[in-house]
Amino acid sequence: MKYTFPLISLLSWMFLAGCSSHDVQQAENSITTTDLVRQVKTLASDAFMGRKPCTAGEDSVMAYLKREFTRMGLKPGFGDSYFQEVPLVEVTCQPSERMTIVSGGQHPDLKYIDDFVVFSKRIQENTSLDKVPLVFAGFGIVAPEYNRNDYAGLDVKGKVVLVLVNDPGYDSGDSTYFKGNTMTYYGRWTYKYEEAARQGARGVLIVHETPQAGYPWSVVVSGATASKFYLQPNNGYLDRCEVEGWITRDAAAKLFATQNQNLDSLIVAARKPGFIPFEMNAAMSVSMTSEFSNKLSHNIMAVLPGTTRQEEVIIYSGHWDHFGVGTPLNGDSIYNGAVDNGTTLAWMLEIAEAFTLLKEKPERSIAFFAPTGEEQGLLGSAWYVEHPSFDLSKTVANINNDLMLYFGRMKDVMVTGYGQSELEDYLKEFADQQDRYILPDPNPETGMYFRGDQFSFAKAGVPGLYARGNCDSRAHGREWMHLKEKEWLAGNYHKPTDQYEDYWDLSGVAEDARLLFRVGLKLANEKAFPAWKAGSEFSRE
Ligand SMILES: [Zn+2]
Repeated sequence: MKYTFPLISLLSWMFLAGCSSHDVQQAENSITTTDLVRQVKTLASDAFMGRKPCTAGEDSVMAYLKREFTRMGLKPGFGDSYFQEVPLVEVTCQPSERMTIVSGGQHPDLKYIDDFVVFSKRIQENTSLDKVPLVFAGFGIVAPEYNRNDYAGLDVKGKVVLVLVNDPGYDSGDSTYFKGNTMTYYGRWTYKYEEAARQGARGVLIVHETPQAGYPWSVVVSGATASKFYLQPNNGYLDRCEVEGWITRDAAAKLFATQNQNLDSLIVAARKPGFIPFEMNAAMSVSMTSEFSNKLSHNIMAVLPGTTRQEEVIIYSGHWDHFGVGTPLNGDSIYNGAVDNGTTLAWMLEIAEAFTLLKEKPERSIAFFAPTGEEQGLLGSAWYVEHPSFDLSKTVANINNDLMLYFGRMKDVMVTGYGQSELEDYLKEFADQQDRYILPDPNPETGMYFRGDQFSFAKAGVPGLYARGNCDSRAHGREWMHLKEKEWLAGNYHKPTDQYEDYWDLSGVAEDARLLFRVGLKLANEKAFPAWKAGSEFSRE
């Protein structure tokens, strides 16, 4: 009997030593394809009506996610509520049929939709630009770190600027100027509109080119002609240009021809450092009417509070919204959004459940966040970083996902926006353990890093990771997977055919959930704040 005490201590010591990894393994094992299938089938079912913001579909998905979070025992992410109100305004613009142009004594007028699209973010019913001078501002970029200022020496106040899409690195053959073919934030249309407004321009038009934009003119048109949702502004967006828009490459070529300029040579020249933008001997007129209606949508967030550092948080995210009910395809009008973004919601719910099953809970808090309005321009996540539940300086990382495919297990872990932050080193450690390799996004020129919710966090200084297996099937290799992805994009992306089918293999999504569960757990038990890498456009300053 006298040995009882030491024996118990020895046993409990052995238990504690082995406990941690066993505990984690058990929690990780709760992530299964069966659970993923159940979640996706529900979230992408017709009952959810395509999960469009501000419709009955929103009510269904909010109720469902709340029930799941409550079942897991997770706490509300916004005070005593799981929901955060996101006030939106829906804007419908009707532009004039023509944009009239006087240039070099000629009239190379443009036709709405065929040659140009315009819209206005301003909350004003009537917009009219009358014979406003045009300025060619190169790529419309002010980037001190690349010693580039396309607005230097130009006075664009009260004028309309014409700018090129993407950034000067594209096709320049120089990977050190900007990031070569990898699009930087300066290449995004969102940036170009913001910069033109900062410079005091009345209007901004981007010259469209398919490879440089990453999508064809038809995508520009469908985006521009539909009504748009924005966050409800305090100032009516009077700090934006009155007119924003795009013109086709052909229209731009004709316009420059009347100035005795060749567009191709201009583009080549504009890619070089030291290019000097110029005022054109041209003026344009266009007008539009706008209608507005205020709407309310919601973000949802649940939290597993940290045991010792509750105020520090790792935020997993996946947008809940999709396109609702729209133009029918083969008689089906419900845009179920099973891959976009049902699989990711399932991925996040499975990670959430794994965390709640840990006996030894993490030191930092873990949040599970489903923002609204991603498809409308990252609205929910933009609103969240303006009104965060956790101090952004204490927000360690955002682990976001989108478009997780169903073609089984992958050898790769594709990182969108590769090279941004040290989070990639964490990812590599656990990818190695799964016998997988890190693959930078093979199409970095499309700037996908700036087109997902991790970008809202990145802009606010929080490193964002967007990673999933996508390119190299363990069973069938890269060629096969490349074809499958291409086929999926052509047949299903943003179409009613993006729906759950029984032949799906979600084992790859399960593996990604296990991987990113491990990454988040490591971050949650550390003191470190992963930093941005040198050359990233973002920083905590
Ligand atoms: Zn998506």
